[in-house]
Amino acid sequence: MKILIANLGSTSFKYRLFDMGEGVAAQLASGGFERVTDYTSCIESMLESLVGEGHLESGEDIGAVGFKTVLGKDLSGCVDADERVMQALEGFKEVAPAHNPAYAEGIRCFAEKLPSVRRIALFETAFYQWMEPAAYNYAIPQSWRALGIRRYGFHGASHKFVAERSAEILGHTAIVDRVRRLYVDGPGDYSGAPLRVLSCHLGGSSSVTGIRNGVAIGTSMGFSPQSGLPQNNRVGDLDSMAIPYVCKMLGLSLDEAERQLNKESGLLGLSGVSNDARDIQAAAEAGNAAAALATDVLIDSIRHWAGSFFFKMGGAEAITFTAGIGENDAELRAAVCAGLEGLGVQIDPSANAQAIRGAEGIISTADSKIKVIVIPANEELVIAREVFRRVNN
Ligand code: ADP
Repeated sequence: MKILIANLGSTSFKYRLFDMGEGVAAQLASGGFERVTDYTSCIESMLESLVGEGHLESGEDIGAVGFKTVLGKDLSGCVDADERVMQALEGFKEVAPAHNPAYAEGIRCFAEKLPSVRRIALFETAFYQWMEPAAYNYAIPQSWRALGIRRYGFHGASHKFVAERSAEILGHTAIVDRVRRLYVDGPGDYSGAPLRVLSCHLGGSSSVTGIRNGVAIGTSMGFSPQSGLPQNNRVGDLDSMAIPYVCKMLGLSLDEAERQLNKESGLLGLSGVSNDARDIQAAAEAGNAAAALATDVLIDSIRHWAGSFFFKMGGAEAITFTAGIGENDAELRAAVCAGLEGLGVQIDPSANAQAIRGAEGIISTADSKIKVIVIPANEELVIAREVFRRVNN
């Protein structure tokens, strides 16, 4: 069965086509479009090239389309992308404005263009559905909680891939199976050797997740993907009182404050240079103090959250790095792990330097008690597997 994964941004459309023979995924093709104004013409161009390259006979040859939906009101998990999903996306469109309208529109276009092809959504929040209430509740009035304001967690497909792959690398086979079947069987009981992972997804947007025996126990992300670590141009954690204070002092409207928190904050706001980690590093190396501060704040925030989950889980067997910054920035990884010898973290500088540009590897020394691992992200594979399972159940 061929499964297409659609990754929709507000101005981009990326896709990957997998062939799921017996549930083992082989990637057949990938591609994408930037500066998109209309998904229907993207779908048409995509089908033209997939048919032209011989991967499909026609659009109907696709067994199912999977969508990495972000945040649904009162809905999570891996579900058919039907009217219920559209309503859930609509219900929280203000909370995830860069993602929810794009997915709603994309799903609608696929429904019109390829009506007979099944559409399935895997919400990014799904990986966090077993967090304890104490880990996801905010201390807000009941009436706010009734609106669904709580910590949800994002980058679920990425952290789930890390949960599975880190267990594979460290030889915890029972945990590999547990993670693979998590959305079907739930966590169940586990009594084997523990595997506690501090999972750092560091890219255009970033988050840290604590994973105990394959199941997420907490996330740096909050009600929206605007929280936690400083993101490329989104704020990350901020004391809520700063917003009314700034509105009063600078005479900003709430809409304008929100725009600045989404578009002019994060690494861009801190550095004043760019929202891209590479540009920021180059500026820091050329002596720009604000750029150096941006990287320092990111590192401090990663350590803050990883430290929190280390404490909550009573230790860790692994620290993992994934996504653009996590997979490429050896210096930042070394800085995140600096001074942790007392906890049993010992980085091997040469292994660390080599684990870049998509290379997987253990970057801690052989006798490091806590293993530090670079794992290239593979969110699409997680989605393809879940979609395949749902279609076949
Ligand atoms: P997205 O979240 O948009 O999918 P990615 O996971 O591709 O993003 O990560 C993008 C980020 O990774 C950018 O900030 C980019 O600068 C950073 N990055 C890519 N390569 C490097 C590198 N060699 N060193 C440091 N940062 C890098």
